[in-house]
Amino acid sequence: MKGEDLVKRDFMKRIGVLTSGGDAPGMNACIRAIVRCGARNKLEVVGIRRGYAGLLEGDLVRLGPRLVANIIQRGGTVLETARCEEMKTPEGIKKAVQVLQREGIAGLVTIGGDGTFRGAMALAEAGDIKVIGIPGTIDNDVYGTDYAIGFDTAINTALSAIDKIRDTAGSLQRPFFIEVMGRERGFIALDVGIAGGAEDILIPETETKIEELCLNIRRNFKRGKKSSIVIVAEGDEAGGAFRIAQQVWERLRLDYRICVLGHIQRGGSPTARDRILASKLGAAAVDALVNGKSGYMVGELKGEIAFTPLKETWEKRKELDNNLLQLMKVLAT
Ligand code: ATP
Repeated sequence: MKGEDLVKRDFMKRIGVLTSGGDAPGMNACIRAIVRCGARNKLEVVGIRRGYAGLLEGDLVRLGPRLVANIIQRGGTVLETARCEEMKTPEGIKKAVQVLQREGIAGLVTIGGDGTFRGAMALAEAGDIKVIGIPGTIDNDVYGTDYAIGFDTAINTALSAIDKIRDTAGSLQRPFFIEVMGRERGFIALDVGIAGGAEDILIPETETKIEELCLNIRRNFKRGKKSSIVIVAEGDEAGGAFRIAQQVWERLRLDYRICVLGHIQRGGSPTARDRILASKLGAAAVDALVNGKSGYMVGELKGEIAFTPLKETWEKRKELDNNLLQLMKVLAT
């Protein structure tokens, strides 16, 4: 169904929802919660396909409680997602506001990362649109929430792969370099490394010293350890798993194996934690719009729903728990 088919309604009787940036498991559970909580509040909910690209084209679909049945368990996003350069221009913003106003969409929930929130804030500033952001990214690098939707599923997917690799690593007694996602931040690597019992974790936030890494690997084997699993965040400043492994080989001449987990970390059915988080945040976003709130991201801090001004999500940096890195070093002995 195209936007033109939609029946016009009074202001704030209709809200929109879109997913943008990279997809993350749990986005569907969030869409479902927004639609059903919207219905409970007598709001029409319109799904915007392919993020801001679909918004600019008026690619809209009316969503009702029955239309979001049987999606809570599905990975990806039924609304699909896209990157849209035009949205970063004043003309793009103007066009997006026009579409929203034409369709009588007075409130918008955007699910994604900080780029998505920049777009939402631009809409709020340019038109009389109320916006609420929801963090949905497997990287978990969004300020203002302990967890973003999709992170828990991603780390559990990576973990199940690492557990399998460990069987082989222990039998072959070779170092294994496992590359996980995280272009700029090491949240996935850190959690997966702790949970997977890694011997080392290499992340962009800390300097990777190859000599030190080699020393650790050699020491571990001398100590009688059967395997040496090194988790590498793809964005580590020393390079990805291939470059790092090569540098280690040049020094130790130890046969090694590499496994790049790649996109399997992004897909799959969301874990219970992601579904619950997505449901809570979706409900809180609708509540916020109904109460006239705008310009905030709704997240969860220490188990409580927390609102953070959208601007802070890109102006402030979420800190990594350095204690976890220290703990890994102790536990790897
Ligand atoms: P991920 O964590 O998956 O990268 P993200 O939301 O940060 O998620 P981006 O690709 O940075 O992903 O942004 C998604 C979309 O948001 C962009 O394709 C663009 O349409 C819009 N966007 C990003 N930055 C801006 C901006 N400064 N102004 C307006 N829109 C923006």
